[in-house]
Amino acid sequence: MISLPDTLQSLIDSFKKLPGIGAKTAERLAYYIAENTNESNYNFSKNIINVKDRLSICNVCFFYIEKENICNACNSKRDESKICVVQRPKDVIAIDKTGFPGLYHVLGGVLSPLDQIGPEDLNINELFQRLNDNIREIIIATDTSLEGDATSIYLADKLERYNSKIIVSKLARGIPIGGQFDYIDEMTLAKAFTERTKI
Ligand SMILES: [Zn+2]
Repeated sequence: MISLPDTLQSLIDSFKKLPGIGAKTAERLAYYIAENTNESNYNFSKNIINVKDRLSICNVCFFYIEKENICNACNSKRDESKICVVQRPKDVIAIDKTGFPGLYHVLGGVLSPLDQIGPEDLNINELFQRLNDNIREIIIATDTSLEGDATSIYLADKLERYNSKIIVSKLARGIPIGGQFDYIDEMTLAKAFTERTKI
């Protein structure tokens, strides 16, 4: 049996570790790279390295920023009376496509006792530090999983005790159970957003 050169095999193995990439696709991508121009491969590898070298997290909303740049999601032209709380940075983009005009806060996960993730492991204190008199509504848009729901109940309760004047809402049903926003079409997400309910 003919085996592949180690260089090519290790490239295939690297692709196989990416989410959603099976053995066949990993092979196809590796062959593509092997036949690609040096310049194009160099640019591709540079982009991968830059993600860790140049990308940072906003220390207010925890969305991605380019190091030393100001945060796009926190700019002053947004409606500062609403904050949408999400699990991960990519959810900001999914929800923003629905036309939500307000601010965001990325939790960095959800409560999960089984994985030993408690409130102190999430950006919850930082959310409370952002609360001021301008804020009228907090929309909790965590996944519709057991952990996502438990997190929204925990937050709603804590917010209610902190300031009962702030409306706390969550997205309407219609989002499949366990659903992540990037797998849901924009219309469904926008509808769930418009029809959000008070917790
Ligand atoms: Zn920000």
